[in-house]
Amino acid sequence: MSLRPSLKKLLGRGEASAPTIPSDLNITIRRQHRRSLMMRPVPGGFEVYIPRWMRPDNPKVTEFIHSALQKLGTEPPPIPAEQTSREQIIAMVNIWAERMELQPKRISFRDMRRKWGSCSSRENITLSTRLTWVAPHLAEYVVVHELVHLRVFNHGKEFKAMMSQYMPDWKSREKELNAVRF
Ligand SMILES: [Zn+2]
Repeated sequence: MSLRPSLKKLLGRGEASAPTIPSDLNITIRRQHRRSLMMRPVPGGFEVYIPRWMRPDNPKVTEFIHSALQKLGTEPPPIPAEQTSREQIIAMVNIWAERMELQPKRISFRDMRRKWGSCSSRENITLSTRLTWVAPHLAEYVVVHELVHLRVFNHGKEFKAMMSQYMPDWKSREKELNAVRF
């Protein structure tokens, strides 16, 4: 196991016991517009939020993670079982794109926690990898939602009308998806 640079620095200061963070822990550090440091358990790991001005290799970050792990424990919540595969989701995109006569330029998956999907003005659709943890009919709702955005770039009347046209029960699917917590 190699010591992280920040840990080396701490050791260099001659502290009796430098904080050690198990190297097999899946820890993601994200810079945010915030003042203080925060860590929270997420499926399969931990997310640490730090102020934008702070570098992730700042020793304060390592110290913070170390003490947070002592409070939270080093066992992250389990990763939910897969309910819908990426292949299934891509197949849904293809089926619906044809049905709706719309074609996104590019489809990609990203680990997004705040959104299930997004559609850029360049007509690229990004889907959250977390969609694989929800039931197919919910993933399908997100697919149709993002495809509609290729034509309507807001959630106004036109958007709702188009959703209802293609997916009459979209509101109940949306409600069900909004209740999903990971
Ligand atoms: Zn939307």
